[in-house]
Amino acid sequence: FCLGEVSLKKLNKKIIGVDIGGTSIKFALIDTQGIIENKWSIPTNISEKGKFIPAEISSSIRSSINKDTLKEIEGIGIGVPGAISSDGEIVVRAVNLDWEQLPLKKMIQQELDIEACLLNDANAAALGEMWKGAARGRKNLLFVTLGTGVGGGIILNGEVLNGCHSAGGEIGHIPIRSDENRLCGCGGINCLETFASANGFVLSMRKKLDQLNVSWPAITPPNIFEKVAQNDEAANEVFDEFLTVLAQALAGIVNTIDVEEIILGGGLSEVGASLLEPLKKKLENYIFPQIRPHFSVKKALLGNDAGVYGAAYYYLSKNAV
Ligand code: ZN
Repeated sequence: FCLGEVSLKKLNKKIIGVDIGGTSIKFALIDTQGIIENKWSIPTNISEKGKFIPAEISSSIRSSINKDTLKEIEGIGIGVPGAISSDGEIVVRAVNLDWEQLPLKKMIQQELDIEACLLNDANAAALGEMWKGAARGRKNLLFVTLGTGVGGGIILNGEVLNGCHSAGGEIGHIPIRSDENRLCGCGGINCLETFASANGFVLSMRKKLDQLNVSWPAITPPNIFEKVAQNDEAANEVFDEFLTVLAQALAGIVNTIDVEEIILGGGLSEVGASLLEPLKKKLENYIFPQIRPHFSVKKALLGNDAGVYGAAYYYLSKNAV
């Protein structure tokens, strides 16, 4: 009888998932089954090196959740757009927020008197997709976001690969062989994201059109996909090159860690089948024969909610609530 009561109590426990982005901070109150009871967001205050953000996170939680519910909160998982120290205490660096060596975990815990944990935002999104999204029920996957940059998260045996310096799954910075010299935001040359992000894709198209002395009214990913659908030769060539670069990088990872699924998220994935199908085909050229008949490529399902789900799940998995 006692045990039953305990587990019932645990079922009632709640977690807060927080996803800190460059423009907004998303929050969700989630139960241990992964049902969102309440979600909200606030703008990211990047003034004065982002120094107000920790206090604004705490005060937003206090003002959005009533006192009785706040007592039921088991913990807070926080996804951060940057690197976390190996002990999970400190944000080593978050470029977009202008943070360096910020003891965010302690700050939040002291403000709210609730246990907190930190993880990288792309790794949070990967966990979110595993818990409640496209990779539900899976334990081994490669999560890839194709947006302004290329982000990623690797999950093996149900655990996210954070690495020794919280840079695990930073697949956007895989070096690519090219005759070009594309400078990456990380300081590297010809990183995957300089070719396979939305920006990289647009840059490739612009270079191609310049070469051909052709001009389009606007070069955007939707425009390029439209031209591909119309069988435009230049667009086809650029798209094929984009797919080759991306597929070679992804196949390198899949052949190394042998995951069963690739989940694609981010703005570019929004076109759906017109990206997923050709990518899958291209991947078949590079995926190891033993894996080839078994792997799948799927579109992420949770969109902007992936991070809050994953951050909450990370807390749950670390603390076995
Ligand atoms: Zn880079």
